[in-house]
Amino acid sequence: MFADIIIDITHEKLDRVFCYRVPEQLAGALEVGTEVIVPFGRGNRETRGYVVGFSEKTDYELSRVKEIIRAADESVAIESRLVALAAWMHEQYGGTMIQALKTVLPIKRKEQPREKRRVRLLLDEEEGKKQLDVYLHKNQKARARLLAGLLDQPEQEYELVTKKLNITMPVIRALEEQGVLALDSEREFRNPVRQRVKQRQEVEYTKEQRNVIDTFWGDYREGIRGTYLLYGVTGSGKTEVYMEMIHRVVQEGKQAIVLIPEIALTYQTVMRFYGRFGDRVSILNSRLSQGERYDQMERVRSGAVDVMIGPRSALFTPFSDLGLIVLDEEHETTYKSEQVPRYHARETAIERAAIEGASVVLGSATPSLESFYRCRRKEYTLLELRNRTQSLELPDVYTVDMRKELENGNRSILSDRLKGMIALRLERGEQTMLFLNRRGYAGFISCRACGYVVKCPHCDVSLSAHRNGRLVCHYCGHEEPSVSACPSCGSTFIGGFRAGTQQIEDIVKKAFPKARVLRMDMDTTREKDGHEKILESFASGEADILIGTQMIVKGHDFPNVTLVGILAADMSLYSNDYRAGERTFQLLTQAAGRAGRGSGKGEVIIQTYSPDHYSIRMAAAQDYEGFYEAEMEYRELMGYPPVEQLLAVLMTGRDEQLLEKAAGYVKEYVVRIGRGGRLQVIGPASPGVGKVNDVYRKVLYIKCGEYRLLTEAKNRLEQYIEINRGFQTLRIQFDFNPMNVF
Ligand code: ADP
Ligand code: ZN
Ligand code: ZN
Repeated sequence: MFADIIIDITHEKLDRVFCYRVPEQLAGALEVGTEVIVPFGRGNRETRGYVVGFSEKTDYELSRVKEIIRAADESVAIESRLVALAAWMHEQYGGTMIQALKTVLPIKRKEQPREKRRVRLLLDEEEGKKQLDVYLHKNQKARARLLAGLLDQPEQEYELVTKKLNITMPVIRALEEQGVLALDSEREFRNPVRQRVKQRQEVEYTKEQRNVIDTFWGDYREGIRGTYLLYGVTGSGKTEVYMEMIHRVVQEGKQAIVLIPEIALTYQTVMRFYGRFGDRVSILNSRLSQGERYDQMERVRSGAVDVMIGPRSALFTPFSDLGLIVLDEEHETTYKSEQVPRYHARETAIERAAIEGASVVLGSATPSLESFYRCRRKEYTLLELRNRTQSLELPDVYTVDMRKELENGNRSILSDRLKGMIALRLERGEQTMLFLNRRGYAGFISCRACGYVVKCPHCDVSLSAHRNGRLVCHYCGHEEPSVSACPSCGSTFIGGFRAGTQQIEDIVKKAFPKARVLRMDMDTTREKDGHEKILESFASGEADILIGTQMIVKGHDFPNVTLVGILAADMSLYSNDYRAGERTFQLLTQAAGRAGRGSGKGEVIIQTYSPDHYSIRMAAAQDYEGFYEAEMEYRELMGYPPVEQLLAVLMTGRDEQLLEKAAGYVKEYVVRIGRGGRLQVIGPASPGVGKVNDVYRKVLYIKCGEYRLLTEAKNRLEQYIEINRGFQTLRIQFDFNPMNVF
C-alpha cells in the first residue's frame, strides 16, 4: 500500500505529490488529511506532510520509495480538515487532486513582506479630545501634535508620523505607555479595509427576527448543527439576523464565514459588519493580490480574525474552530465555480460544516429550487421572515401584453403604458430604471403576434438558432429547420429577439429628448469601478433614467426610484436551459424590489409576450411559493434537478471526427454501465458554441435520481478514458448540475 503525500502546503509548487510506502503497523490508521512524519530529501530529515491519497501500486522503483515514519501525534491541524475537504471535492466534482488542493489551501506566493510599522489610536474621539486638552494644558507640544494628527487619521504609518509630524520615538513610546496609541510593530498584515467605524446602532429585533434567532440558537446550544434556509423578502432584516447569529457563535469562541456574491459586496454591507465586529472582521475580494490574500489567511491563522466575508473562495478560510457558515443570496449562480473543480459553494459549505462541526445558514428572498426542495424534505430547516422591518410597502406590479401592443400597431420596444408612466416620472422629478433582461440570451425563436416559442419536442426547452439556419436543442442535439411563419398562428412576425442596451438608449432618448439618461452594461463599466461610479451618479440624482442589464438589479438602494420597467421579460424565460423559469422569476422579483424603496409608492411594469406563463404571473404577484409549486411540476415531469441529478460530460478536441467517435463510445460505455437503465443518457449534442479557437466541443448529459450513482459513473468514466489511448488528445470535463448549458 502506498500513500501520496504533500510536503509543504503553503508552497506554490503544490504540483508535486510524493509517494511513500505505508508500513504494516500504520495500515488502517491513516486517512486522507492525516498529518504524518516522513523522511524527506537527501538527509532524510523528518518532515511533516499530509496524506492526499492512496494507491495499490506505484510507477516508481520500489527500492527508492521511502516509508512513512509515523502519524503526527494528534492530527488536529486545520490543514488536515482542508485536505479532507479537497478530497471530497475531488471525488464529488472530478478533476485532479492537485486542482482540488489548490482551490482549498492558501498558497504562498513569493512576495516581499512589507515590514512597515503602524501607529494606531486607541481612544475614541471624545476621549482623544479630552487627552489633547491635557497635553495642550501641560504645554506638551509634541504629544499634542501627534494626538491631533491621529484624531484626524486614527491609523498612520510610522515613517509618516515621524517625518510629517516631526515626532520622535520616545514620544510615541510615552503615548503608548499611557494607552493612547498602539505601535503595531509585528509584521504588517495588509488588511484592505482599515476604517474606524462608529459603534452600531442598537436595533430591537422584530418578533419574526427573534423567532428565527431563537430557533437557530436553541439548536446550536443543544449541540445540533444543521443547515437552515432563511427565506425572507428584501428588507426583512436577514443581514441583521446573520450578524446576531454570528455574534453568538463568536461569543462561544468560534469563528464564522459569510459568503456574499461579489456584486452584492457593497461598501454599505461591509460597513455594517465592521460596525458590529470591528477589526475582527476581514474581507476577501477578487481585487486583492495573491500576497494580500495570503496575508489575510495569516491573520486568520494568528487568531486575529473572527469573521471572514467574501465571495465563493472565502469558504476555504483556515479557521481553527469554525462555528457557522452563512451564504447570503444563496440562489446566485456565481456560487458555482466555472473552473475545475466545478464545485458549488452551497454543497461544499455543507460538507465543510460537517467536517468542522459547524452550522450553515442559507439566505435569500428567492431561494433556489434545490434549497426549498430540501426544506420540504426536512433536510434543511426553513426559517422565515415574512415582513419588511420598516413600514415599506411592496410595489404594485403590472404586466403589459406585448402581443396586444403589436395588434394596436405599436412595434416599438416601449409599450404605450410604460411610456406614459415614464413621462409622469419626468414630470414629478422621480427616477426610472429600465431593465433589459439579457441573461440567458441564446437566440430562441418566438412569435410577436401570439407568443409562440419553438421548443425541443423531447426536452421542453427552447431551441437555439444556429448560424447555419437550423434550430438546435442544446441538451439532446435535436435539430430542425428554421421557420419563416409562425407554426401556431401563421404570422410572419416570428424570429429572434435582438435588442441591446444601446438601442434602447437611442429609443428612450428619441421618445424623451429632455430626459437625462444613463446606461450601464459591459461597455460602460469596463473601466475600474465603472459600475460603482454609474450607480453613484444615478443615486445622487444626476440622471432621470437608468438603463441596464441585470447589473442594475443588485446592491444600491435608490430611494427616488418609483418606476421600474422590465423590457423583454421573456428573454430569460426562453433561454435554452431547464432553469429558465427559475432565473426569470428571480430576476423579475429582484428587479421589482428596486421600486419604491423610499417614501413614494413604487410601480413596476413587466413587458412580456407570455403574460400567462407561471414565472411571470407569480413574479407579478410576488408569490414565491406559488412559483415553487408550478416549477416543481415541470421539473418532476421532465426529470430535471432537484428531482433528478444531471451530470454534463464536456469533451473537447481538435480532431472533429475523433471527437465525434469518442463521444459515441462514451455514450455506449455509459449505457453499458447504466445500472439497468438507471442512468439515462442524453445527447451527445453540439454545444451553443460548437468550436472555440479550432477546438471542437461535444457534450453528453447523464441523468439519474441518485447523486451517488452519478459520481460512480464519473469515476468509471475517468478510468475508461485513462485506459483508452485513443482519447489522449481529447479533454474531458465533468460538471454536476451545471448552471449553464454548454
Ligand atoms: P435584508 O438583509 O433582508 O435585505 P437588512 O438586514 O438589510 O434586510 O434590513 C433592512 C433594513 O432594516 C436595514 O437598514 C436594517 O438596518 C433595518 N433593520 C433590520 N432589522 C431591524 C429592526 N429589528 N428594527 C429596525 N430596523 C431594522
Ligand atoms: Zn404566432
Ligand atoms: Zn432536446
